Amino acid sequence: MATDLIGPQIRCQICKNPKLSLVLSLGHQPILQEYLTKERLLELEITYPLNLVFCNVCGLSQLDYIIDPKLVFMPHYPYRTGLTQMLVRNFDSLAETTHEAGYYKKGELVVDIGSNDGTLLQQFKKRGAKVVGIEPTDVAKIANKSGIPTLQHYFNAGTVRDIRKKYGVPRVIAATNVFAHINDTHVLVKNIKALMDTKTVFVSESQYLRDMVEKFAFDTIYNEHLRYYGLKPMIHLFALHKMSVIDAERIEAAGGSIRVYAKKGVHPMSARVKKLLAEEKKMSLYSLKTLHSFAKLAHNAKHNLVALLTKLKKTGARIVGITSAGRSNALLGFTKINNTLLDYNVEKKGSPKIGLYTPGTHILVVDEERLIKDQPEYAVVLSWHIGDELIKKTRAAGYKGTFIIPLPISRIVS
Ligand SMILES: [Zn+2]
Repeated sequence: MATDLIGPQIRCQICKNPKLSLVLSLGHQPILQEYLTKERLLELEITYPLNLVFCNVCGLSQLDYIIDPKLVFMPHYPYRTGLTQMLVRNFDSLAETTHEAGYYKKGELVVDIGSNDGTLLQQFKKRGAKVVGIEPTDVAKIANKSGIPTLQHYFNAGTVRDIRKKYGVPRVIAATNVFAHINDTHVLVKNIKALMDTKTVFVSESQYLRDMVEKFAFDTIYNEHLRYYGLKPMIHLFALHKMSVIDAERIEAAGGSIRVYAKKGVHPMSARVKKLLAEEKKMSLYSLKTLHSFAKLAHNAKHNLVALLTKLKKTGARIVGITSAGRSNALLGFTKINNTLLDYNVEKKGSPKIGLYTPGTHILVVDEERLIKDQPEYAVVLSWHIGDELIKKTRAAGYKGTFIIPLPISRIVS
């Protein structure tokens, strides 16, 4: 990996345009999945600029600072796909849709880039596919133990060679919630292409810029997500590599994502792609004016949420957070809601974050049982994009207090 791809970015990650416009600054933030031990709270945390910028030429919204991926996706990276029910359902649908479309058959190879604990590949395996995962963090060990062959490695030219040699050419290559995360877009696409033949379908799932703008989900902006894809810049990116987007669909994953299917060579785009492109144009998704109104709403949302929590805290109420994730840490970092406002965040039993503190805001993460035992007056649903599911579950577990939904407009749900 070229070292100039780490640090401040002065050119567009797709088209290399040197004139990028600032959309929204979320300040300086630490690495948002780096949970801290009690001892480490005493150390100075390193922070990095977190700015969303826009390229007027190809339409890509992106970060203007890239942290070394070895620091962001450290070996003890605490994210487990299998712990999120919504994602498990989404992966079932991905394996089913690609199977129905005839992109792979029983006995054929499916490769997943950034395969995490193997949850997606389990779904392909269930349908008879031969599977291989690529995952750089220690989660790869969990996948291997559960019967999903996984190479613990970054996805690069070497991994491509290894897979081709040992397993052959895949029919489907999947990259869910990772295509926008990997540094050096062009090398990434080149490596994906090197793993494909003319029959292979590359399917990616990325958070969709349109959902982010429509739902004011500015908390999806954080250091792991280097690019905020709409369909238009993605088509442009693949075209630069002589690949075509053949189909695309909107999906629920991660609060609103886009699933994009691409092949090598020149192929027509489906009616769904054309319709989505027309809709993007109609809502002026690639205009700085649209993005600036989005940024303004993000600042309003921040002020409203902080005002609400401060008011409640002054009455002596206990307030805690439900769930703790990179995304919610971005929200806490931007709003500066820290351990003076939230007593703790709860996480599902077994989460590797329990007993550690959130980066930047230093809120202790505890087992969700604590919420039921303590019954604090208010619980902020930090993963508000799956708010309904969380509220239902937490209520059923016996929590009697009041929920606060932080975004897009902070509100109280009794
Ligand atoms: Zn560009």
